[in-house]
Amino acid sequence: MTDSRTRRLAGWAAGTGALAALGFRLAGLPLLEAPGWELGMVAALLAVVAAAPLGISAARQELPRGRPAPLRAFARASAGLLLLQAALVGGAAARTALFTPCSLSHGIAFVPAVALPSALAAAALSTLAGFLAPGRPLRGALLYLAGVVASLGTTLLEGWLGPSSYLLDHLLGIWPGPIYDEALSLDRRLLLFRLGSLAWTAALLGVAQLVAVRRRTPPGRARGAAIGIALALFTVGAIRLMGASTGDLATRGSIDRVLGGRLTGPLCDIHHPREKPAAEAERLLRDCQADVAEVSAALGISPPPLVKVWVHRSVEEKRRLVGAGRTEFTKPWLAEIQVLDAASGPPALRHEIVHAVGGAVAGGPLGVPARAFVLVDAGLVEGLAVALEVPRGEWTSHEWARAMKDLGLLPPAARLVEPAGFFSAPAARAYGASGSFLEYLIEKRGAAPVLRAYAGTPFAEAFGRPISELEHDWHAFLGAMTVPPELAVAAEARFRPAGLLGRRCARETAGLEARAQASAHAGRGREAAALWRRAGRISGDPADLRGAGDALRLSDPAAAEAAYSEALAALGAGRPSLRSAILESRGDLRWRAGDEPAAAARYREALGLLPDRPRERLLTAKIAAVTDPALAAAGPWLLGKGDAQEALRSLAASENPLGPYLAGRAAAARGDPATAIPLLERALAGALPSTAFRVEALSSLAAARCTTGDLAGARAAWSELERAADREADRERARHAASRCTVEPGAR
Ligand SMILES: [Zn+2]
Repeated sequence: MTDSRTRRLAGWAAGTGALAALGFRLAGLPLLEAPGWELGMVAALLAVVAAAPLGISAARQELPRGRPAPLRAFARASAGLLLLQAALVGGAAARTALFTPCSLSHGIAFVPAVALPSALAAAALSTLAGFLAPGRPLRGALLYLAGVVASLGTTLLEGWLGPSSYLLDHLLGIWPGPIYDEALSLDRRLLLFRLGSLAWTAALLGVAQLVAVRRRTPPGRARGAAIGIALALFTVGAIRLMGASTGDLATRGSIDRVLGGRLTGPLCDIHHPREKPAAEAERLLRDCQADVAEVSAALGISPPPLVKVWVHRSVEEKRRLVGAGRTEFTKPWLAEIQVLDAASGPPALRHEIVHAVGGAVAGGPLGVPARAFVLVDAGLVEGLAVALEVPRGEWTSHEWARAMKDLGLLPPAARLVEPAGFFSAPAARAYGASGSFLEYLIEKRGAAPVLRAYAGTPFAEAFGRPISELEHDWHAFLGAMTVPPELAVAAEARFRPAGLLGRRCARETAGLEARAQASAHAGRGREAAALWRRAGRISGDPADLRGAGDALRLSDPAAAEAAYSEALAALGAGRPSLRSAILESRGDLRWRAGDEPAAAARYREALGLLPDRPRERLLTAKIAAVTDPALAAAGPWLLGKGDAQEALRSLAASENPLGPYLAGRAAAARGDPATAIPLLERALAGALPSTAFRVEALSSLAAARCTTGDLAGARAAWSELERAADREADRERARHAASRCTVEPGAR
């Protein structure tokens, strides 16, 4: 062996060893602990960096030959890149196998799909750069860098102009969409796009061949290379067209073709599923316009902007068309919103409208407060949206924040309004805390300083006071509130989980849980239970064991009971809200088996753990149904079996007020206000078991009366609700709903 060859081999050995060590270290980080998309991205970026020296030097070795062949240089450069990537992935996989419970195979397919085509494209680009700048490595490197920058620029421009949440770059890899969608899948979009990367690789190699042939003396004919380039570019175009038509690389036009419905007013342009009933679509448009008007007034934007909303029919379809399944998102600079449809309208629409209208306050290329244009101050963005929402659940944002403070989980305010701090906290804590903080500041100091900060003035300067002082006041305000025991239980369940970054093998467990739900949905109980158990073994989370019990409760009650007991044992004294849910499921098992006293005992135990209001009402109704013969007809219906119509008919006739309450609520939920109104009125005339029932009955009655055009009756019900309610969130919701119930076009 010659000296130079030995040196080269030693260099490679050192390089691969260093990368294996780096991979090993990286696998100690959350989300990188098992091979998957994240590791694929690291390997892709590694290839983009390493391709510059490898490709250019491979070209340099090739150029002095009589007939220099770009393909040979490309092969040498890509072999080197693949070796480096393999070392990195091997090091990471070793740590996964040795020190984690995660499976090596779960996400491994992502690694080649994300990393390999990037390596090949980078090798082709650097080979071309080497051939374009023979004998001048620096110039070659600059050419290569220009290629990478052009690729990134195109990707960002497409993301900026287009409707989707994903970013796809032939060199730098793939951003699949919002980070809160936990279970990633290797879908057709990714595969189609990577096919496109291979076509681009071929086109770059064709150009390199063309350059090489032209440089010969005398210059050769380059027909073969030209045909190759044309074919490759044709493939690139064909993939684009195909992706647009299947929706995997959707344009606004293809999204509209899939959704099929559209309704436009002066403030909202709604794109909705074509099968949505006209009355529902009109109500959606009215709600949207009212929200845009209210939010614009609160933010001092006049005239209000036109907000464009795409309402998707399912998680799967939304993920295919715009890249984010469950996560709703807005592009504030375009005032474009993508949400999932729901029976009573998309629940997050108002939140997203704040982002869209806020775009006009923030200005700039992204329509959000950001440092250096791209480091988004997410705490300000999300905090303002939460602050201007109408409470959706049982508690106001201040109540949530106070309970979070009691748990010692409230993030410091200074971290919330800096780009990295917001995302380092679990989403529930970050959203909840910044929402309460901004709402407090708006209430205390008016909207003006918050809007100044939103428009880009540094926080402390916008308020004329240091953030620590503002935080001190906020904490004092929270400290003066009281925390009912139900709130403490709910806050523990909502804020304790550590989020995506804190879960073991997060992507794998999320994937297993998603598959378990799909299996259960398809009626394959045993398979679902096995998947839940697998997820539980990795996550150590008793909630997964509860899933296994739920999957088996119809087919194998004994096995279900065993899974529930295991879950309860694993819970110990913690997590009362999960405990309550499991006790309810165990009560259901006893009730199905005909042991009513045992069922009632479990329901009472579950109620004693102070569950949230919907569960409290359901448990109370179940206890009433197992103990009062006047409600016996509700049994099969509450257990999700038997003929619902028949059960609801006899409930409607029941002398226990809970009977007409249940039948009336069911009628209201299926959009039949005329049937619901007299039933709810009769329920309210009697003695319902608790405030929770009265509030719920009044709110359903008011909404039903408003839909039928009985505005005075609706207002009366909402005012009574305000008097009866023991929760501030219910009162706020009632006031807001009453203000919205005005003469509706189309209503009698
Ligand atoms: Zn948001």
